[in-house]
Amino acid sequence: MNKKSIKDIPIKGKSIIMRVDFNVPLDKKTLAITDDTRIKAALPTIEYILKKSPKKLILMTHLGRPDGQIKEELRLGPVANRLQELLKTPVTKLNDCVGDNIKAAIASSKDQVVLLENLRFHSEEEENDVNFAKKLASMADIYVNDAFGTAHRAHASTEGIAHYIPSVSGLLLDKEIEYLGKSLETPQKPFAVILGGSKVSDKIGVIENLLDKTNTLVIGGGMAYTFLKAQGVPIGNSKLEKDKIDLAKETLEKAKEKNVSVVLPVDHLIVDNIDAPTRLETTNGQSIPDGMIAVDIGPKTIELFKKALKDAKTICWNGPLGIFENDKYAKGTKEIGDFITTTRAVTIIGGGDTASAVAKFGLEKKMTHISTGGGASLEYMEGKVLPGIAALNDKE
Ligand code: ADP
Ligand code: MG
Repeated sequence: MNKKSIKDIPIKGKSIIMRVDFNVPLDKKTLAITDDTRIKAALPTIEYILKKSPKKLILMTHLGRPDGQIKEELRLGPVANRLQELLKTPVTKLNDCVGDNIKAAIASSKDQVVLLENLRFHSEEEENDVNFAKKLASMADIYVNDAFGTAHRAHASTEGIAHYIPSVSGLLLDKEIEYLGKSLETPQKPFAVILGGSKVSDKIGVIENLLDKTNTLVIGGGMAYTFLKAQGVPIGNSKLEKDKIDLAKETLEKAKEKNVSVVLPVDHLIVDNIDAPTRLETTNGQSIPDGMIAVDIGPKTIELFKKALKDAKTICWNGPLGIFENDKYAKGTKEIGDFITTTRAVTIIGGGDTASAVAKFGLEKKMTHISTGGGASLEYMEGKVLPGIAALNDKE
């Protein structure tokens, strides 16, 4: 279903309440923001709204896990300051998020932009309490959700509120719906899915959802070794989920029935110890000697994967192909990342670590879409309904 976007409605003179994801990492001692990517990501939607002369723009977010208690170290003061600097517009920061005093403070604020206090200081937020949601809704004419990272949670500020005032998506959410939603629902074919990362169990839902639409399934990273084991290949001490071997077998059979070509590693970079290797070698073939651990795909596999991906029109990538955090084991992830940006395919990146890998290799601008949600992007790729999106108004 198509959801109404902030672009579809008049804003002039209206009070807008917008859920953003300002859940930024803070330095434990100084409480300084150590990474402001999430605040920067919200700027286009904020600027879009401000250009259309709203009466007020009320922003709300959670920060950390205060579990329904006021935690001084999780107040939004540093966030408001950083937002103010980036926006070059004054921002009023309030010391709570609901109630008559807050309403009065919003009405009397000289600033057009107001930031409410951490929503999770109230346990009603995560409980999706009806009265709390109504109180949030009563502060504005229109609700905008631009927080994809929490769209898989039915909380008062992400789901409950949408039942009481007109509710639309923000520009960030629009992009997630466009690519993780629509493009994966009806992909341009050939459609290739690259899966990696640490565990089969984390990704099986994604495989199951996409198997019917996929032409090629490329599997690397830690999860590949459970699949190789399922085919009887010796994997040494590489990552293995013993209780998922049968599931891997079934998945390979299902893929065959559905005519999906599954591409697994044919060689590997192996070490005797991940943190302090005394041996670092490339295998000749698919099997891994006893005691050795695969930490990256090998050179033959890199070429094989490129061949499998070169004609794709849509590529969805979730999960690094090796332990890329270590530069010595990053080559496979980097080369395949580089390669897909040279194809004509729409490239869609999901998963927190895959997004970090793409950033580490400077490929951010070259991908079509990099999802900003970790857990939310995984659930979306699994084909699940995200409550924060489902609750928004449908397009007429
Ligand atoms: P995402 O967050 O993108 O969904 P995951 O969380 O599933 O990705 O997996 C990321 C992790 O997988 C990385 O920390 C990486 O080091 C690890 N990984 C990749 N390849 C291997 C491997 N061969 N052995 C063990 N871990 C691996
Ligand atoms: Mg991860």
